[in-house]
Amino acid sequence: MALRLCSLQLLRSRPGSVCRLFSLTAPASQAGNQEVTALYTPEHNAIRDSLRKIIDTEINPYVDQWEKEEQFPAHHVFKILGRAGMLGVSKQTEYGGMGLDFSYSIAIAEELGNINCGGIPMAIGVQSDMATPALSRFGSDELKRQFLTPTIAGDVVACLGVSETGGGSDVASIKTNAVRKGDDYIINGSKMWITNGCQADWMCLLTNTSAGAPHKNKSLICLPMKTPGVHIAKKIDKMGMKSSDTAQIFFEDVRVPSKYLIGEEGMGFVYQMLQFQEERMWGAANVLTAMENIVQGTIKYTSERKIFNQPLLDNQTVHFRLAELSTEVELLRSLLHRTVGLYIDGNDVTKLASMAKLKAGRLARELSDSCLQFWGGMGFTNEVLVSRFYRDSRLLSIGAGADEVMLSIICKYMGTLPRKK
Ligand SMILES: Cc1cc2nc3c(=O)[nH]c(=O)nc-3n(C[C@H](O)[C@H](O)[C@H](O)COP(=O)(O)OP(=O)(O)OC[C@H]3O[C@@H](n4cnc5c(N)ncnc54)[C@H](O)[C@@H]3O)c2cc1C
Repeated sequence: MALRLCSLQLLRSRPGSVCRLFSLTAPASQAGNQEVTALYTPEHNAIRDSLRKIIDTEINPYVDQWEKEEQFPAHHVFKILGRAGMLGVSKQTEYGGMGLDFSYSIAIAEELGNINCGGIPMAIGVQSDMATPALSRFGSDELKRQFLTPTIAGDVVACLGVSETGGGSDVASIKTNAVRKGDDYIINGSKMWITNGCQADWMCLLTNTSAGAPHKNKSLICLPMKTPGVHIAKKIDKMGMKSSDTAQIFFEDVRVPSKYLIGEEGMGFVYQMLQFQEERMWGAANVLTAMENIVQGTIKYTSERKIFNQPLLDNQTVHFRLAELSTEVELLRSLLHRTVGLYIDGNDVTKLASMAKLKAGRLARELSDSCLQFWGGMGFTNEVLVSRFYRDSRLLSIGAGADEVMLSIICKYMGTLPRKK
């Protein structure tokens, strides 16, 4: 298994860098160290190496600045990634993708974990694997040319509009509705917590399109964000994921052509559940590398930090704990790779994907808390990446289906979820 070595580096005195001391950066020279695994071939690793170079030169040098500014320039970064082919590895070649299977998206998600924050990888994941799977699978050729091709090229920014103030965990209860009038839909309602929402050019919108049963009355629609009646109400102030913008958005008599419907009307809930599946595997993959980097950074720090005349790392409770955490990371990777392998072979992986997402969220919390402890007071500052990871990774147990939602799905597949009376 690939457990790449990363080390603590003192950043050169870059003006405005908040992580000058003990910042975790994985040196560019380590690109190319990935091992071939059951899931990854040399082709996967070659793509990861190219991406790693982009991360080292075009993204990581600016992360501290973008975290401070609480927004990263999505159009600029996505164009760089789009030009390199990184936004559509598993999308069809007719629309600019590489036509590879989903394991390549997972390889990219793992590599993006080398970005020195959680917000930018998440924003990239929304563009490449969260707002676009349904469009790619079910959209018409015309719709894909209009929305998917420029998204893969990095010419536009996409967002995913599912959650609402009253409908997060309970997606079926969303209130936004689209009423058919002639050849158009008229949309009214609102969306909450929308990643990329302040910068997006279009939204993959989940909306009610009829008054029927909640799992059969929804549709996905491509909504251009410059359409009259779309109001960005606010950019939400968050405890973590600082460089990623998160918006609350209102729709007031927003008119879009009915041909912007993705696939069949009434299938939106089903399509979104399929999209969530990829989002959950992507999220688990992305946090793996970040966790490895935090462990390696903690090894380096505790080997240099002397307490009671010996390196902190030499205390058995420290090196044993880091060994335990690394073991857990490898177990998660094994579960995820098995899940992805089954997925690309066409199996239903709902239970395993939910388990991987649940475990990823919980392990990220446990690992960041344990590692932060070993950094002492330094861990409580904004000068080190472990504290950023502690804040950013907290989202994984909430977003894309909270831990309890994952547990409910797993119980359903185990046959232990009580039936609703
Ligand atoms: C930074 C950020 C970015 C996001 N990006 C997007 C985005 O791009 N697009 C989008 O559509 N959404 C996005 N979300 C929304 C996210 O998916 C929701 O926050 C999440 O689904 C939880 O919904 P909620 O916040 O309404 O919590 P609620 O639904 O109010 O749930 C609150 C808590 O209740 C508990 N709970 C839920 N169900 C059960 C149960 N069955 N049994 C017991 N306890 C339960 C859980 O602990 C949960 O955390 C984002 C959120 C954040 C914070």
